[in-house]
Amino acid sequence: MKESERIINEIAQGLRGLDEGAVWFSGLPQNEQKRVLREVVSYAMQAHLTAEDGREGVRQSGVKPTANPAVMISLDPPRERLGRIVQLPPGEYVRAFRVLVSAFAVADTRRRNESCRGTCGHSWHNLSANS
Ligand SMILES: [Zn+2]
Repeated sequence: MKESERIINEIAQGLRGLDEGAVWFSGLPQNEQKRVLREVVSYAMQAHLTAEDGREGVRQSGVKPTANPAVMISLDPPRERLGRIVQLPPGEYVRAFRVLVSAFAVADTRRRNESCRGTCGHSWHNLSANS
């Protein structure tokens, strides 16, 4: 499992704090930050992120609801907006990361609770077994 995949999923499962994750993200080179944003977008789509998940994610992200990535993830339908969040200028990357990971956490928590129920074969939902 890639470092970024592990960290993103640890945050989503409450095993790692978002602030700690944002510090890790901030230390990456800019092209790698963009790659990680794309990665979170793909996870969010897999988890069937809704606009309501986006709004709940924004509330938990510590990012102002008026910030560009926060506005974009809260609009319906969010799937079209997710790709555009990655196109935001680099000055928005850390806010985009916080908002995307928080919203993914909301969608992924619902998926774990409703579909996976602790018995799924998703490697990223069984982190302790892989470490
Ligand atoms: Zn699962």
